[in-house]
Amino acid sequence: MLTQQTLPDEYRQLDDERLESIIRRRREQLGKRLCILGHHYQRDEVIKFADFTGDSLKLSRQAAEQADAEFIIFCGVHFMAESADILSADNQKVVLPNLEAGCAMADMADVPAVEEAMEELSEMTDERIIPVTYVNSAAAIKAATGRSGGACCTSSNARRVFEWALRGEADGGAGGGKIFAIPDRHLALNIAVDMGYTPEDCVVYEPNKLNGGLTADDVAAAKFILWRGYCYVHQLFTPEHVHGVRRRHPDIRVIVHPECPYEVVQLADDVGSTEQIIRTLDAAEPGSKWAVGTESNLVNRLAKKHKDKFIRVLSDAPASCFQMARIDLPHLAWALDNLAEGNPVNHITVEPEIAADARTALERMISI
Ligand code: SF4
Repeated sequence: MLTQQTLPDEYRQLDDERLESIIRRRREQLGKRLCILGHHYQRDEVIKFADFTGDSLKLSRQAAEQADAEFIIFCGVHFMAESADILSADNQKVVLPNLEAGCAMADMADVPAVEEAMEELSEMTDERIIPVTYVNSAAAIKAATGRSGGACCTSSNARRVFEWALRGEADGGAGGGKIFAIPDRHLALNIAVDMGYTPEDCVVYEPNKLNGGLTADDVAAAKFILWRGYCYVHQLFTPEHVHGVRRRHPDIRVIVHPECPYEVVQLADDVGSTEQIIRTLDAAEPGSKWAVGTESNLVNRLAKKHKDKFIRVLSDAPASCFQMARIDLPHLAWALDNLAEGNPVNHITVEPEIAADARTALERMISI
């Protein structure tokens, strides 16, 4: 297991100007050998150094396309760097500047618990259960999904993947009677309802309880079994935020990410992945007003970009991803100094067997 290499104190003591000059110099020195990827939720002072910005999957694909780039610095969180390693070429090294940049939601599911859940559920029903795993998960969970005949999904293609999972094999589907959705319960419930099912068709599997806290009758009645995970950033949005912003701005449109709770998604005007939110706001009419239910760094950046539109975070308090914020200028400068000196720190490698099974789940998703 990779352990965090400690950031030397000298980097913490440098001011932003000095850190930025180190980063610029090292980028110039490494040239095309280096590609820096920045997730949309990343802080401004870091993302400005990114060669490409995007959501996690788009960035992993970008990484794979940069054939000249020997080093990929991923300014995101751990599962994203793992996906980049899985999808990039063998000669490319992926670096996460700070290993403490994990994802609280991805950490809510581990392989022994997921495999135990699959066994318990299959003992409670004769119907085939297809795991569908959100890309916001560890490589080992993606691998377990691939081995069990399931697929990964993103927030923008989740409905297509769910439909594939439930379609008969003769029609090119997985022939599932039920879906086991890991790890985000909110995304799965929102997609199930979007497909025409109801919340009563879904049950939540509690990993700390025997049989997930479910009876055989619960499982028999459910079409969707939802792992009890969530993103704390998106879960903080509430129906009261929607009502409050509409009271203050009657003509505002509310757009939210599908990781938000069901009650919030039901009240919103539009729902979409990070990339879909960006496209919607880019195309919105000048003078239009938007309250956005997703991470604050992205929303504030969109507000700065579109000064002719009123754009704000849906909640009054910021919705910040603290894990993403652990990638900062000192860690980026330190990672680049070490790369340039031929001594990569925090090099993310996924074991070949896990990578192969995880790739199966990712490639199934891509082919759907
Ligand atoms: S915003 Fe949520 S899902 Fe995304 S990295 Fe942060 S904790 Fe994970």
